Amino acid sequence: MTPTVGVLALQGDVREHLAALASLDVQAIAVRRPGELDACDGLVIPGGESTTMAKLARIFELLDPLRKRVEAGMPTFGTCAGMILLADRVLDGTSDQETVGGLDITVRRNAFGRQVDSFEGPLAMAGLDAPVHAVFIRAPWVEETGPGVEVLSRVERGEAAGRVVAVRQGSLMATSFHPEVGGDARVHRLFVDLVRS
Ligand code: GLN
Repeated sequence: MTPTVGVLALQGDVREHLAALASLDVQAIAVRRPGELDACDGLVIPGGESTTMAKLARIFELLDPLRKRVEAGMPTFGTCAGMILLADRVLDGTSDQETVGGLDITVRRNAFGRQVDSFEGPLAMAGLDAPVHAVFIRAPWVEETGPGVEVLSRVERGEAAGRVVAVRQGSLMATSFHPEVGGDARVHRLFVDLVRS
């Protein structure tokens, strides 16, 4: 059966994720309403602005349904702001910043600082035999991981060398970078494999 994979479509780079998923033989749908979320076997939370996305999720009455589905084990993949939304703990967030949570990680928003707040380059990732072209845009990094969290990738060089930028915990996956830009769907494929399994 063809799985249905949603992209949370409240804000952010929704179209690019839908395109990446559509290339992978899944039914890719935009999710703006609880009913659309119900139809999903898996969900991508895109990059954008985590504070705005969380506020919109609350207004559109999606925040609690999202928490319930994630808690119930729906495979979910967060990229950049989406990683922040999946994190149980956020550093440098706004005082009222809410998250969906579920991933036992602490993320730091806008962690790479002004000078290198956006950069790109090849990055090795567990599960892929060749590096991905990783695009970081005012990205968070993972500052702490709980015992159930598997580190999939770390920054390899520069001041941020060693920082964790991709993780997995059970059915949840998150990257600091944007795998949806650049026409390489291998990271999405890892996620779709998780949805199918
Ligand atoms: N800095 C953004 C935030 O805190 C994330 C940036 C992105 O998703 N590209 O939500």
